[in-house]
Parts: sequence; structure tokens; C-alpha cells
Amino acid sequence: MSTGSSSSVDWNCSGQEQDWWDPAEAMPRAELRRLQLERLRGTVEQASKVPFYREQLRTAGVTADHIQSLDDIRRLPFTTKDDLRKGYPLGFLAIPRSEVARYHGSSGTTGQPTFVAYSREDLNTWANLCARFLYAGGLRPEHTVHVAFGYGLFTGGFGLHYGIEEVGAAVIPAAAGNTRRQALILRDLQPETLVCTPSYALSIAEVCQEEGIDPHSLRLRYGHFGGEPWTVNMRHQIEANLGIEAFNNYGLSEIIGPGVSGECSEHEGMHVQEDHFIVECVDPDTLEPIEDGSYGELVFTTLTKEAMPIIRYRTRDIAALETCPCACGRTTVRMHRVVGRTDDMLIIRGVNVYPSQVEEALLRVEGAAPHYLIEIHRPGALDEATVKVEVLPQVFSDRMRDLQALRDSLEMAIEANTGVRMRVELAPEHTLERTAGKSQRVLDHRKLL
Ligand SMILES: [Zn+2]
Repeated sequence: MSTGSSSSVDWNCSGQEQDWWDPAEAMPRAELRRLQLERLRGTVEQASKVPFYREQLRTAGVTADHIQSLDDIRRLPFTTKDDLRKGYPLGFLAIPRSEVARYHGSSGTTGQPTFVAYSREDLNTWANLCARFLYAGGLRPEHTVHVAFGYGLFTGGFGLHYGIEEVGAAVIPAAAGNTRRQALILRDLQPETLVCTPSYALSIAEVCQEEGIDPHSLRLRYGHFGGEPWTVNMRHQIEANLGIEAFNNYGLSEIIGPGVSGECSEHEGMHVQEDHFIVECVDPDTLEPIEDGSYGELVFTTLTKEAMPIIRYRTRDIAALETCPCACGRTTVRMHRVVGRTDDMLIIRGVNVYPSQVEEALLRVEGAAPHYLIEIHRPGALDEATVKVEVLPQVFSDRMRDLQALRDSLEMAIEANTGVRMRVELAPEHTLERTAGKSQRVLDHRKLL
């Protein structure tokens, strides 16, 4: 079922390598859509072996034969995290237990974990998908990669590990934790690439400094980060502190793990591996499709998964899709980085807004500190939103004109990022309330009415 293995890499006559790992990444769109359609029918058939889907498909009156075009995916039912929980532990398994090659689990931060299973072929596919984004981000067979992701039920460690081996590079399976040791490994084994969560990359950079190791003196050149959402600002910080080029990748265990999408060297969004997944972007309330470039909830359907095929999984992750061609030559749709979860969504004057979009706008304007509070009122018929934001001490001079200019820039940046005009109030540093852990970003007074 998988199209990719190391033997499928194309080399041109001059011996120069292609920019992609697998030719499937640059397939003509029409050919890709034909392949997706054929594989979607296969997924519906495979999913029919799962009692949950058998029942759902029967209720919807849909069989594989009804899937005549890719638009027919909208006839298929959605799958939610709750559905998967109800199938705990292995209710979604579509192959015999004896054919399962590995199990992983999603982090159960808000309840019991969900287990996922892979066939031997699923594992081959997964390694190929990770190899693709690693290769797109500079990894070559002669390199060494430091994996500081957790190994275990979490899909990060093992997923990346086999992707690195698929490329033919050397792996240092350092795993997460003992940050001082991570710094020593970087110094003594001199890997070219670091793989971990973005927040852990910042910790490693900090400990390097404490240990007297200048990250810029290391051989480290590339970093592949995923497993949690991160901001553009964080990317700049990681790149500056470690002296590397940082690449974003995305995945979730319910779909396969890391490798669902990953960035190329253009850094214009993550290429979704569309020969293995269909991605949709929908309005989380109406479930209607959202136009290109606008934010909505991502929904994924697996196209080749044998052990646990998943139909229209609602990720609750908010991002936008981009179908215009990428300069790298890959033909696949790209997703912008995840800006939030559906649980965080605010509707202001009918527009979907995420606090992280406001945060991103604030960080783009010099003089604003990353501490803010969005307050929403509805004094009359219309919503009114105010953003209180702390400004850096040097800005709070008594020059009123500077403050007015800063306020204008912030208001414009917020409107450009969210599509909503919000009033900005500047506050001196340390005047907005801090709470331990997650700080409060939103006060919605409309709910109090
Ligand atoms: Zn690209």
C-alpha cells in the first residue's frame, strides 16, 4: 500500500539528488487526486471491519461504491476523540491482533489514554513519512541526529527514530530528560540535527550556556520540532539561541504520529502527505468547509492505514490550508502552524478569533510585552473587544505621541491578523494579573449577562 521506500528515491543523470525524498511528494495534482479517490474507497472498505464504522456507514447509507469523487468524502461520518475513547482499548482495530506490529498511545492528559495500533506495513509507511520531512529539512544519510523526544507510548521518539534510519542517517536515541547530558551529547557527538519539542529545545540551549558550551560552536545545523504548538517568536528564539534552522512538523497519534505534515526549506507552511491522508478544514460549529487561507478545524482521513483506518477525524486543532504551489516543487497542500484548539475559539462580531492570533500580532510590534488580556463586552447589539497589553518599560515615557503611535500599530496588527478591530489599552509592566501556570488571556463579559 505504501508508495515509498528508500528504493523509490529518484536520482537524476548528473547524480544530483532531488529535493524530495519520495516522488509521491511532487506528483501532479490530477494523478494525486485519482490515487486519493482509489485509496479512500479502500479506507471505507477497511473501516467497515470496525463495528463503530460499520454502524455509522450503515446509518449514513454509504458504501465504498458510493465514493465516486473526492467530494463524496462529505457523505462520510466524522470521528471524534470521544468516539475513540468509547472504543477503548482496541475497539477500532481493523486487523487481527496477531497482525499488529506495534502499539502506541496518546497522552491522556484529560482522561484515559487512547491506544493506537500499527501493522507492519503501517510502520513502513510511517518511517517513510518521517523520512520525507526530515529530508526536506536538510537531513542526509551522512548526518547524525540527536533525538531528545520521549521514547515509549508517545509516538515522537520511535516515529522519528525509524524515519532517521530510513534516510540512512545515524541516530542518537538520547530520549527526553537529563538536560545536562543532552548538552554533553551535542558537544561530544557533534550531531547535525536535533529532534525534540520546541520548548525542550529552548531548555537545552539554556543548559548549554550554563555548561559553558556555546551552541554556535557546535556542528548543529538543523532542528525538527513538533509535539506541541509553538509561535513564530519561539522559532526565532530557538534559531538564534542554538544557531540552527528550525523546521516545524505536525502529527497526531490517532492519525499515525509525526509525519502527517512537515515543513520544507521555504518555511511557508507544512506539506500534508496527501497520498496517505486527506485533510479538510471545516468550521467547528457548522462543520462546513472553510475557504483556503482561513482558519478552521483540521479534519484528517487516513488513506493507507491498515490496523486503524480513521475517517474524518476532528483534531480540534485550528489552522489554515494553502493549496497554491510551493516554490520547493512539492505539489501537496500546506497547512499553517496550529494557532489554537477549538476549545479556545472566541466568536467576536461573528468572526472566529483565537487568543494566539492576538498574541502573534502583539509580538510583531516592537515595544509590546507578551502579557495581555482580551476583554469582550456587548454594550449594545455589537461585541466590543479590548486588548490590554503590557509595554516594555523603556516605551512608557511621557511622550504621548509615541504611545499613540504604538497603540495604532498594535490595533492595526491585531486587525490584520484576526479580521476584527479591537481597542488597545497600554499598561505598564507587571500590572496585569499573573496566575501560576496558564495565565488568563480572555475575560468574556458577554457570558455573564
Ligand atoms: Zn514546499
